Amino acid sequence: MGKVYLVGAGPGDPELLTLKARRLLEQADVVVYDRLVGPGVLELVPPRTARIDVGKNAGDHPVPQGRINEILAQQARQHGCVVRLKGGDSFVFGRGGEELLYLLEQNIPFEVVPGVTSALAAPAYAGIPVTHRDCCSSVHIITGHRRENGRLELDYPALVRLDGTLVFLMSVASAGQIAAGLLEAGMAPDMPCAVVQNGTLPSQRKLLSTLSALEGDLRDSGIVSPAVIVVGRVCALSPRLDWFSALPLKGRRILVTRPAPRAPRLAGLLRRLGAEVTTLPAIETVPLDFALPDLKEFTLLVFTSAEGVDVCFDRLFQSGDARQFAGKRFAAIGRATAAALLRRGIRADLVPAEYSGAALGALLTAPGVLGPADRLLLLRARAATPQLAEILSARGVPFAQVDLYDTLYRPMPQCDPARYDLLTFTSASCVEGYTRAAAGFDLRGVPALCIGAQTAAAAAARGMAPVLSSQATIDSMVEAACHYFGKEVIPS
Ligand code: SAH
Repeated sequence: MGKVYLVGAGPGDPELLTLKARRLLEQADVVVYDRLVGPGVLELVPPRTARIDVGKNAGDHPVPQGRINEILAQQARQHGCVVRLKGGDSFVFGRGGEELLYLLEQNIPFEVVPGVTSALAAPAYAGIPVTHRDCCSSVHIITGHRRENGRLELDYPALVRLDGTLVFLMSVASAGQIAAGLLEAGMAPDMPCAVVQNGTLPSQRKLLSTLSALEGDLRDSGIVSPAVIVVGRVCALSPRLDWFSALPLKGRRILVTRPAPRAPRLAGLLRRLGAEVTTLPAIETVPLDFALPDLKEFTLLVFTSAEGVDVCFDRLFQSGDARQFAGKRFAAIGRATAAALLRRGIRADLVPAEYSGAALGALLTAPGVLGPADRLLLLRARAATPQLAEILSARGVPFAQVDLYDTLYRPMPQCDPARYDLLTFTSASCVEGYTRAAAGFDLRGVPALCIGAQTAAAAAARGMAPVLSSQATIDSMVEAACHYFGKEVIPS
């Protein structure tokens, strides 16, 4: 018999997850989750873990509560660790109590991990302190969800008398009714109000209004659920305290085309600066069935990509260990490749300042770098550009090459460039993959942030407008993205 952990997933920003929630997500055998759980939170669930989506859509309930209860009990009988993951906090209009009472009846043990509720976090990300000494002395969380009969029964005179901050959940559809009720009960028509949609997510939107204008403003704004409605004088602080809207990349839609295993760092840094990031890998690395020659024949190993480093070392370590590299020198095409080598315990001896085959060729063939005894082994992608090999041949440098992996182009379902304010490319093959996927679209003048000259040349050849980072690193790309939108980077 397992245990059910009722875990609050927070309002959406995955970094608002508690440490305990994160540990349980990593340990879970199965995760049963709701519609309001943020996509970034679900990304933290390991791929091997079973997932059950019991997401409810407003109005229609694909999985009825009774069935969810049964699923939880069933899973607990089969597994050790069942995580029941709910948006925000499970006890704030989350029906968490009902699920626990059912588990109790079934003699299934449980624990509760509180979460950061959207009722407090969405205002916080909109620059609204829910209490403030000068404004109010209490905060109240109220549901605006109507009963099956369509009625919303709130004690408006009591709410007005409280003279505190009122936070309404599930209230977009009933906002007009709520505002009318509060006005009728005597609340000032110019009482400040705010509506925060998708709070704490990059897609967060905010509306500031007053009680009398709320219904019309909300309709005009196009804001839809999930959103919280805040009524109270504290809302007037938002224009000054809204730090989230002030983030340098807030509201910018950026496409990350990096291969899946490498996308999270770039995507994460951009998100932290407020960008709305979509990750659509343009390429996938598939290791070939290669055999390495006898390494004793070679003095210098040349890696042309971080993928190559990983594929090569993974293969070598199946039978051997790092001693095979004793006494060798290493060259890496760029800093990312050098960083991949460092993760394997090897500091590259030769790294060109610019990320390109030509720059690496120039560095290797510069006077004094290679001696007459040097033999080079190029470890590369099958589709690699021939530049480096051509330079070495032309200079009579003895070398052999091994193709480590193939680069497969991936389907990219949402690649329409009009969806994004900026595309990002970390290699020429990502440009190629994207161009193939976006074949039907006009790419002329589309801004494309590129990691190096070679990548930028590939983007320019397709008519895109390359934006070049000053260095071939992810950090430098993020900085360049900020500059492109006219912002300075705020060190995080
Ligand atoms: N247990 C959740 C609330 C569930 S009720 C919590 O503690 O946050 C569902 C309502 O929560 C939505 O209708 C909306 O009012 C609010 N909500 C949830 N996530 C939200 C978000 N990211 N931004 C704004 N409102 C959100």
